[in-house]
Amino acid sequence: MNKVYQFLDLGEVNAPYMDEMVDAASRVIRSGRYVGGCEVDAFEFELAEMLKVGNVVGCSNGLDALRLILHGYINMGIMAPGDEVIVPANTYIATFLAITDAGLMPVPVDVDIHTMNIDTDLIEAAVTKRTRAIIPVHLYGRVVWDYTMNDVAERYGLKVIEDCAQAIGGRSVLHGRNGSHYAGALGDAGAFSFYPTKNIGALGDAGAVATDDDELANAVRALANYGSDRRYHNIYSGYNCRLDAIQAAMLRVKLRYLERENSDRFERALAYNRTINRADVVIPVMSRTVVDNVWHQYVIRVKGYKRDLFRMALAKAGVMTDIHYEVPPYRQPCYRHLAHGTLPVTERLAREILSLPIATGTTVKDAAEIAEIINGLKI
Ligand SMILES: *Cc1c(COP(=O)(O)O)cnc(C)c1O
Repeated sequence: MNKVYQFLDLGEVNAPYMDEMVDAASRVIRSGRYVGGCEVDAFEFELAEMLKVGNVVGCSNGLDALRLILHGYINMGIMAPGDEVIVPANTYIATFLAITDAGLMPVPVDVDIHTMNIDTDLIEAAVTKRTRAIIPVHLYGRVVWDYTMNDVAERYGLKVIEDCAQAIGGRSVLHGRNGSHYAGALGDAGAFSFYPTKNIGALGDAGAVATDDDELANAVRALANYGSDRRYHNIYSGYNCRLDAIQAAMLRVKLRYLERENSDRFERALAYNRTINRADVVIPVMSRTVVDNVWHQYVIRVKGYKRDLFRMALAKAGVMTDIHYEVPPYRQPCYRHLAHGTLPVTERLAREILSLPIATGTTVKDAAEIAEIINGLKI
């Protein structure tokens, strides 16, 4: 039997932290406080310290983090239903879902073929009188932040809401609006997901909002707790989107090892990039140090309409892969009525992209072996 290279094994992801996670879980069980409380406060404080941002509000998941930010701005009178939000065409559906949930209109903008993130040169042309925000997505862990995007946002008075679900710990070489270099603290607000497969995963759903804007942080905190700013006093008709103490305790353990986890991902990406050598495979662009990409996914492009054949051949050779994402959000049945321009790069990516294993469980040696298998495929 050939060796099988799994795409992602969450048991292996969590195994290194077993003892600390069990200790943290029993601490929570004994505390008698299961929603909110001191574990949540401590996690919020620790993440805010890391990001160098004024406020972190823990919440139920990444989609809710985005929803809470948008509903927060609506309640603050900064946006209104019907307003437009610029979003990369190549993203996970949740980014779009948050926008439409708030009654706002997603305006998909095409992406850059090399970074696979929003093409910041195309943002200005998508701005209309109704545009209120840009949601850049740091997709696959690659941070997207530049003068072009910030300048358009400033000139048109747009909020920049970062979708950091895949990019915790990522840094831009440029500082953001409030001085931090961290994804989630570059624009006006950042949304994080701690879904188990993300770079920091809980043992279930969890998320967070980061922002330097105290008014937004207060609105988000209240909205996530029935719209209540103090007990039995509801300033908004809100939701229940709170963070569980047990998840916060798990996340506090994981947060301590984030830098190591992210640099391990970088080492695996480096092994792939050094070894893969085929004219029909495009490897991702890579900086020499782990700064602007936390390698949530390692995504290659297989040229010439043969990605699916390639993927099947890899599976036969024992290499499990995935596609993020096969169908762009604006092509999903739920958005068939959504107006959009031509998005040729996103269409091309949907046809060519392939994600290789990169999480814990895949060693640097595995990555080099997978790369050799790729080089040897007769396709
Ligand atoms: C995972 C993800 C989300 C949603 O996070 P959940 O915690 O699963 O709700 C949003 N945006 C992107 C880019 C994601 O990868």
